[in-house]
Amino acid sequence: MTMAIPGDFTARTEQVQARLTDRNVAGLVLFPSPNLSYLTGFVEEPMERHLLLVVTPAAIRMVAPTMYVEQLNAETDLEHIIAWADADDPLDAVQAALTETELANTDGRVLLDETMFARFVVDLQGLLPDASYGLAGEVLEDLRIIKDDAELTALREAASITDAAWMDVRDRGDELIGKTEQEVVYVLRDAIDAHGGDGFSFEPIVGSGPNGAKPHHRSGDRVIEAGDPVVFDFGTVVDGYPGDQTRTVVIGGEPPADFEEVHAIVHEAFQAGIEAVEPGVTAGSVDVAARSVIEDAGYGDVFLHRTGHGVGLEVHEPPYIVGGNDRILEPGMVHSVEPGIYLEGRFGVRIEDLVVVTEDGCEQLNATSRDWRSR
Ligand code: ZN
Ligand code: ZN
Repeated sequence: MTMAIPGDFTARTEQVQARLTDRNVAGLVLFPSPNLSYLTGFVEEPMERHLLLVVTPAAIRMVAPTMYVEQLNAETDLEHIIAWADADDPLDAVQAALTETELANTDGRVLLDETMFARFVVDLQGLLPDASYGLAGEVLEDLRIIKDDAELTALREAASITDAAWMDVRDRGDELIGKTEQEVVYVLRDAIDAHGGDGFSFEPIVGSGPNGAKPHHRSGDRVIEAGDPVVFDFGTVVDGYPGDQTRTVVIGGEPPADFEEVHAIVHEAFQAGIEAVEPGVTAGSVDVAARSVIEDAGYGDVFLHRTGHGVGLEVHEPPYIVGGNDRILEPGMVHSVEPGIYLEGRFGVRIEDLVVVTEDGCEQLNATSRDWRSR
């Protein structure tokens, strides 16, 4: 799969190199990950072969299996690729990259990709025994957390396609009765395809009746019945950037006892969370704003998760909207607001939008009705 990621990769790399200098970090080593995509535009799954990007304040080298060289030349501006064939010792290529970037023999700090396989970490520790180690986020998190215009364009488009797909499915109303959750996932997938989305941004959640009380229930063979509350949590992808929204609706029939009240409380908590988002406040304060509504209504112990998470090249990334997080919100950050109440064995309610922090508040990326009535 080839996926174009928007961005000014030269500028991003220069910013990372400046941060390495400022922080007196000797080097940064990435492997196939969102960090690597962010810096180079190259998108690839983690792999067992040594595909590593070495960045120092003065130099950049990509170590890559020969079979990836053509792809890297076509899809990135990387000028120095050290290729190795399957019959070679990949550590010779890694050593060459360390030598050419003057990282060899360093006794300084080296930052490693958070998700790098342990085998590559151990290889690097063997080649750089005198280095000390930290995590790539030290120089990448503050860059990735603020979305530029190209990223915001992709996120807005992903949200609007997600919304359009949701409207298609919601408007089916009673037609969804008698289908299994998994069959409804296929309906969602077809709607996303019809609107031009690039598949699901994560395994979608269709949680009907008591399954809605499990926040990360996937989708199974339970048949949706009239009057079931159903939690729909899904999104699509545009240019590598995800949508992520949740609506809880009742398909046909009358909702169960307490449902209307619980839905109203979650909706009020959602609104309180949205209204709390503005530059200069902490991420934790947004969690408090939403959570206090649910606590005051007596459901605090069944709001089972944080209020939200950042989105970008990853569906879950900083800033995490969680109690105690002192990270200050700034314009250009994008995160979810998604309070929920989960009544075990009965039903769950969650409402989720993505928001962009703006100069004076936030922009909601999702625009569909949050009402529980499916029509
Ligand atoms: Zn979600
Ligand atoms: Zn979410």
